[in-house]
Amino acid sequence: MAILSGLSVDNLTEILEGQPSFRAAQIFKWIARGAFSFNDMSDLSRELRDELAARHNLYGSSIADRLEDPDGTIKLKMRLTDGAMIEAVLLIDGEGRKTACISTQAGCPAGCIFCKTGSLGFLRSLEAHEIVEQFLHIRSAAPTISNIVIMGMGEPLLNRGELRKALGIITDERGLGLSKRRITLSTSGIVEGIRELAEIGPDIRLAVSLTTADPELRKQLMPIGRSNPLPDLKEALQYYQKKRGRRITLEMVLLGGINTRDEDIEGIIRFNRGLDAAVNLIPWNPVEGMAFQGKALREPTGAEIARFARELKRRGITVTRRWRKGRSVSGACGQLGELPLSQFNRQTH
Ligand code: SAH
Ligand code: SF4
Repeated sequence: MAILSGLSVDNLTEILEGQPSFRAAQIFKWIARGAFSFNDMSDLSRELRDELAARHNLYGSSIADRLEDPDGTIKLKMRLTDGAMIEAVLLIDGEGRKTACISTQAGCPAGCIFCKTGSLGFLRSLEAHEIVEQFLHIRSAAPTISNIVIMGMGEPLLNRGELRKALGIITDERGLGLSKRRITLSTSGIVEGIRELAEIGPDIRLAVSLTTADPELRKQLMPIGRSNPLPDLKEALQYYQKKRGRRITLEMVLLGGINTRDEDIEGIIRFNRGLDAAVNLIPWNPVEGMAFQGKALREPTGAEIARFARELKRRGITVTRRWRKGRSVSGACGQLGELPLSQFNRQTH
């Protein structure tokens, strides 16, 4: 039994052995147009539709819940074939542009101490169809999505094979045809994965969650930084820029009083030298029960954020600030991962 939403035209051709060669492209197109069952594929014979339905599934996931914030953000909870739960989010910005925020893993192994997903632990990486289906489900809630950010649950560069397949499907002009320039991947800084992106693509936009350029503090806040040290990360980013010639984004989650000090500003300025990067400030979104060195994490104050932005700008760095969207549905950055995943974790332990 194959799940067709995660197959490229070539994979479909293999599965449809014995059918005329245009059939695979025809089915690929139907999935991109939003067909939810083989019955929707009205230009296939009844016989073929029945045969496909008996042998394959179109989707592997289903929508378990849909939450909507007054600001327009929609969070979809999706149930996967093994019962794991993941989340995908539709964001609408000030200009009305619609962006799908999608997940690449159920839980996350990186363990950042400020992130809800990280606190859940790691269940597994997603398969290509589970990544494509998030986009398709979100699009059925909002037909005109122009952008994708790979910033949901999980560390995308620890699931490169399936993500690559999924992006191949999403950007294929015979189907969904989304432009690579409209896709941004955010990573906690997996050095090997950044080098692979530099060498073989796909040629999407890159954002890196730097959060602090202080090596010791970063290892404490983002344990994955121990095996991906800052000097190696910077070298990989320089290599990426040499190969791809693209401006990157450095994301900074601002944790009140922790990484908002003068030396943090200086550290970022130093890290930024030799890179072509814009800095994106993300004020920490509260997650209950999170602490660092025995003290509860707190949101940065308006004054802390303003000072941080002002100082970086004064030193010639381009600074953007991420708007807080979807907080009432826990759909903002770092808030993804609700009870169902942890319940599932408990059942499997
Ligand atoms: N794993 C990838 C992508 C998903 S996280 C990464 O870490 O980059 C997407 C962004 O949300 C990252 O920049 C991360 O640092 C940030 N983030 C995590 N928890 C957050 C929180 N509680 N508040 C605000 N941003 C958070
Ligand atoms: Fe994983 Fe990103 Fe959360 Fe860190 S911030 S735990 S890398 S999802």
